[in-house]
Order: sequence, then structure tokens, then C-alpha cells
Amino acid sequence: MSAPRRISILGATGSVGLATLDLVSRAPEGAYRIIALTANRNAADLAKLARRHGAQFAAVADPAAGAALEEALSGSGVRCGAGPEAIIEAAAMDAGWVMAAIVGAAGLRPAMAAIETGAVIALANKECLVCAGDLFMQAAGRRGAAVLPVDSEHNAVFQALNAGQKGHVRRIVLTASGGPFLNWPLERMRLARVEDALAHPVWSMGDKISIDSATMMNKGLEVIEACRLFDLSPAQVDVVVHPQSIIHGMVEYQDGSLIAQMGSPDMRIPIAAALAWPERMPTPAARLDLAAVGRLDFMAPDPERFPALDLARAALEAGEGATAALNAANEVAVEAFLNERIGLLDICAAVADALETAEAEETLPKRFSGFDQVFDVDARARRLAMAAIARRESQRG
Ligand code: NAD
Ligand code: MG
Repeated sequence: MSAPRRISILGATGSVGLATLDLVSRAPEGAYRIIALTANRNAADLAKLARRHGAQFAAVADPAAGAALEEALSGSGVRCGAGPEAIIEAAAMDAGWVMAAIVGAAGLRPAMAAIETGAVIALANKECLVCAGDLFMQAAGRRGAAVLPVDSEHNAVFQALNAGQKGHVRRIVLTASGGPFLNWPLERMRLARVEDALAHPVWSMGDKISIDSATMMNKGLEVIEACRLFDLSPAQVDVVVHPQSIIHGMVEYQDGSLIAQMGSPDMRIPIAAALAWPERMPTPAARLDLAAVGRLDFMAPDPERFPALDLARAALEAGEGATAALNAANEVAVEAFLNERIGLLDICAAVADALETAEAEETLPKRFSGFDQVFDVDARARRLAMAAIARRESQRG
């Protein structure tokens, strides 16, 4: 029998992290050895996972959750840590495969630490490519760390790229489900509640990406992610709304062939493709019964009700500083919506406000020279977004 694959999961208690552990737990005994698992502050769940999977190390980002983690792991033989440095320590351990499934720009430093080990990086955390994609991909290239996209659309494109040569690619197409508000008129969207926005028709995901899907900022972030991952120009990345979410992504070659990857909407399929890469593994995902699906619909996104896509494209054209600011402002605005401080449509409006001010200040570099600059832009954009949110909040009364 071959040696177990040594894997770590950053963001193990989240939707993607749990789906990854689900696959691991179904694999033959001894196929995987869990090196490190991390979470933000959910010590109880993390400890259970670490015990069940016999992890070497478990870490929470929130120092205040450290004592609970230590207590919950006492006698288990699992070493534990707390605080942002403990997450970096987990990411830098000797694993051959690391799932980067922390949500938001908070996942950037840990993902970079994993890259430095030369491990294969299964990348779910799209925000890290949106805020520092070129630096990230360059570091991966230098270290020889393969970056395997886990985002379903990008994983689909990654698979479809095997059908031809990079030089023969004309464009790629990312599909979008359209989210819960696909058929809502604008006036109704204005009044959408948090629970409406979290009720995604197809995918079950963490809160942040669910809200991003509802505004379609998720697709905007994914266009940026795709350009950086696959080294494509913005004009080469198209988006089509496809409510059934059966086709996840496509690659069009210069001869007119459009190669699509299909599958039931279950994240365990793209995660498995990254986990077994370059091989394949079985998954419990429902098999596609196309006769039962019946029809596949496609339509262009509506820029009026979903301005996030154009906002993201404009930031992509403006440069790396603008995409980092877009991401940071969006994280703050999504949080404010989840806390019921602003309405759904205020999310994009606040992001647009923050970007406009940052652009006027001329603090957004076309290209980043290093990570310190990324963190400066990110921090400034968060402050600008908070100010924009406070203005909208007071208007709301
Ligand atoms: P989630 O909210 O369910 O889980 C996030 C994980 O990150 C949790 O383990 C949480 O404890 C941890 N975390 C949160 N903040 C942290 C911080 N500041 N420091 C350290 N750890 C922190 O999110 P998710 O839905 O699993 O998404 C994770 C990432 O994968 C996101 O970037 C998302 O865009 C991407 N993604 C998710 C899906 C999906 O189906 N859920 C699909 C495609 C891409
Ligand atoms: Mg996606």
C-alpha cells in the first residue's frame, strides 16, 4: 500500500472544509494522514474534527478561543495553538496538499505560508487571488507549488483546459446560477432580508459567499480570480447565467469547440478533482440524470439589478490596487448587511463609494510591489467602506 497523503485543511469547520473531510472519511483506511486543521473561533467543532481525524495540530485564529480548544483536546494527543500565528504555523507544516478554505482576505497569509512549503494548494479562497493574485501566483511559480482551483467554475475550466493547448484558447465562460434574486424586480430586491439572501436555490455555502452570490459580486470576484489563475485578459472571461448549475465552466478553443464540464451541483466533485489530482477518485455526489434535468437555460446577466459584475470588471481594468480595495470593501459591506445595518442594494453602492474615494486619493497601484502594499490598500478600503456604510445607515434612519 502506498504511503498516506499528508493533508492540511485551513478553514476546516466551514462548508468547503467539512466537504473535504467528508471525502477523506470515505476514503480507504490509511489513504490520508491529517496534519493540521484550523478554524476561526469554533473550538468545539474543531476539536471534534481533530479528534475524529487524528490531526497532529489544531489551531483557532481567535486567541480568545484558545483555552476552550486546549480544554476540548486535552488527553487527545492533538497539539493545539491559538492566534493568527498559530494558523500560519498550521499552514506551514509538512503536508503535501493543503486546502485553503478560509473565507476572505484573512486567508491570504496562511495560503502564502502553505505555498512556501511547496505543497499542492487546493484553492477555495478566491479572495486571496482577488486581493493579491499576481504576487500569489508568482510565489507559487517560484516555489513550484501547484495551485488547483476548487471554486466549481474554475475547477471546470481547469479540467476543460486539458482538452487543448493554452495558445489555442479563445475565451472561457463561467456560469452563474443567478442566486436567489435572479427573478426579483429591483424594487423587491431593495427590501430583501438576510434570510432571503442566504436562501441560495442551488448551493449550500458559508454566509459570506451566499451573500456574494445574491448580489452576484461572487461572479465578479470569480472573473478576477479566473484572469489571475489562468493568465487570461478580462475580455477572455465571459459570464453566462445558467440557473440549473449543471454546466460549471467552459473553454472555447479557436476552432469553435466549446468544452464544458458538467456535474450535479455538489462541491465534493471539484474538491475530489483537486484531492485526487492528477488522478480521479469516487465521490458520493448524485450522478447527473440529464433526462430528469430536462433542460438547461442560459441568459445574459442583468447589469441593472446586479451592478457588482461591472464594478468588478472596472476594478480589474484599473489594476491590482482596485481589485484588492473592491474585495476589502465588499467584505465589510457584506458583514454590515448580515448585521442588518444596510440593505442588499447598499452593498454594491458602498463598495462603489469606497472605490471611488480610494481612486480619487490615488492610493491604488496598478501593480503591487509587495504584500505590505496589499495590506495597506486592504486596510484603507475597509475604513472607506465603513464610512460609506455609516452614511447609508444614517440615510436609512
Ligand atoms: P465558511 O464560512 O463556511 O467557512 C470559512 C472557514 O474559515 C471556517 O472554518 C472559519 O472558521 C474559517 N475562518 C473564518 N474567518 C477566519 C479568519 N479570520 N481566520 C482564520 N479562519 C477563519 O465558508 P465557505 O463557504 O466554506 O467558503 C470558504 C472559501 O471558499 C471562501 O473563500 C469561498 O468564497 C470559497 N468557496 C466556497 C464555496 C462553497 O460552496 N462553500 C464554493 C466556492 C468557493
Ligand atoms: Mg464559484
